[in-house]
Amino acid sequence: MPRPELLERLAVQTAERAQAQLQRRLRTITQADGPWVESNGQRLLAFCTNDYLGLAQHPKLIAALKEAADADGVGSGSAHLICGHRREHAALEETLAEWTGRERALLFSTGYMANLGVMQALLQRDDLCVQDKLNHACLLDGAQLAGATLRRYPHADVDAAARQLRSNTDTYALLATDGVFSMDGDIAPLRELAALCANERATLMVDDAHGLGILGDDGSGSVAEAGLGERDVPVLMATLGKALGCSGAFVAGSAALIDGLMQFARTYIYTTAMPPALAAATRCAVALARGETWRREKLTGLIQRFRRGATELGLPLMPSRTAIQPLLLGDARRTLEASKTLESQGLLVVAIRPPTVPQGQARLRITLSAAHEEAHVDRLLEALASLRLADAPV
Ligand code: PMP
Repeated sequence: MPRPELLERLAVQTAERAQAQLQRRLRTITQADGPWVESNGQRLLAFCTNDYLGLAQHPKLIAALKEAADADGVGSGSAHLICGHRREHAALEETLAEWTGRERALLFSTGYMANLGVMQALLQRDDLCVQDKLNHACLLDGAQLAGATLRRYPHADVDAAARQLRSNTDTYALLATDGVFSMDGDIAPLRELAALCANERATLMVDDAHGLGILGDDGSGSVAEAGLGERDVPVLMATLGKALGCSGAFVAGSAALIDGLMQFARTYIYTTAMPPALAAATRCAVALARGETWRREKLTGLIQRFRRGATELGLPLMPSRTAIQPLLLGDARRTLEASKTLESQGLLVVAIRPPTVPQGQARLRITLSAAHEEAHVDRLLEALASLRLADAPV
């Protein structure tokens, strides 16, 4: 037998995915303006970005980015530990630490890299890593990359998590959870998980990609909203590309955690620091996210309006009070059809299908933003009503 060839195998897998009508498609956006996007010459009202506070096109962010680019150029030129760490990065790290009530913060170029880096720095082979089944892919990948023993508990099931931790009390243990689940929009049982971790001498890590900016008094996130601090959640990670409208991520925690990550997190050490102008724009975004409380209030009003309307229509809402308001349709093809029909009516709502979500749990992942108006939500509800989704089998 000749050696099998990798690209041939990949082509077969790709063809299989297409045959199952589960292939992912790339769309080019030719213009973005608040909740409006242009694609294939069509202007669409988007309900699928993570720009929850409507900051991505804010004139102050754009001005901050331009000003810093004028002063410092575009690329950082190298990794943080070589000579890429500029005063804009240092200032942003200080701002993020202060906002989240942590001693220090460390920037990463993306959330995916932050989670891989934390896991790989903290965990060694055969350590125990306990995770919610619905955690974001990069938390799961990080544990596997580190060679840890990965145990996944059923969604939000604290008793199951406890059993998994107690199944092996001899090893180091990390329990990692999303703060707000990216495809469901619900919030992790953070207080119960913190109590469990304290009891079991496990370290708790929260990925608050979808909570930062949205939850908590000044938007400092799901952990603060739950009344928890650094002692309860020693490892806090969040992204800068969602509610903050920029790009990148950070980990916040004790000086000891940050010092350790700087020594051992390979996705921090061996990669180019984010453009300093982006760090400057992000600092401006944090100030707006904290100060302009009307953005959170408006978003909350829109979420309530959407849920009220969807309930009246009998739509398959999920138990979420965040900006992520999925409609669980179940069948992948039907979900794709629904998404296409909405698009023909000028609305961009993406179908999320397996393997991103479990089999039989395809959904329209609707996200709301402070950039939307009430009339936009009403228009979405009207279009959803015409789809007769209430009759969809789940
Ligand atoms: N964690 C969660 C919960 C996410 O939803 C995402 C992105 N969708 C990430 C991490 C990765 O962040 P980034 O896009 O910055 O890589």
